[in-house]
Amino acid sequence: MSFDYVARSFMLQEILKGMSLTFRYMFRPKVTINYPYEKGPISPRFRGEHALRRYPNGEERCIACKLCEAICPALAITIEAEPREDGSRRTTRYDIDMTKCIYCGLCQEACPVDAIVEGPNFEFATETREELFYNKEKLLENGDRWEAQIAANLAADAPYR
Ligand code: SF4
Ligand code: SF4
Repeated sequence: MSFDYVARSFMLQEILKGMSLTFRYMFRPKVTINYPYEKGPISPRFRGEHALRRYPNGEERCIACKLCEAICPALAITIEAEPREDGSRRTTRYDIDMTKCIYCGLCQEACPVDAIVEGPNFEFATETREELFYNKEKLLENGDRWEAQIAANLAADAPYR
């Protein structure tokens, strides 16, 4: 051991340096947040959990054109459709296998009526695989729950499209 090393250890130089660093950072603004009680901002383009949207009158936006199903590279979307009595075309089945989804956003890009979107929710971890097989009811429920934020995000992104 060199004399220099012994002298530094004896004077507790390393500890004092460490404590002075701690003391300096104690009064600076914090860079960490207390998740999940605090959450950081996310981009309007964030691609989170999927949702099917409705029009303000409650009607489903989806017109069962199946463009999202066709473009999905993971083959995660399954749609069945038939005409209603009033002649409009709507889905009878809209499933997304979220275990296959790669969150590429192509379904959202392909949709001509902004029906299927990837919303801002990123907290949808489940305990079982089955819970990640989303059906139409679940997707519409997501849409109803997140509509305000989804609409705001789409409006914020619109000038750049
Ligand atoms: S985000 Fe991509 S992978 Fe997921 S459902 Fe949409 S198109 Fe398919
Ligand atoms: S979600 Fe959009 S792209 Fe997919 S079937 Fe419905 S209208 Fe067509």
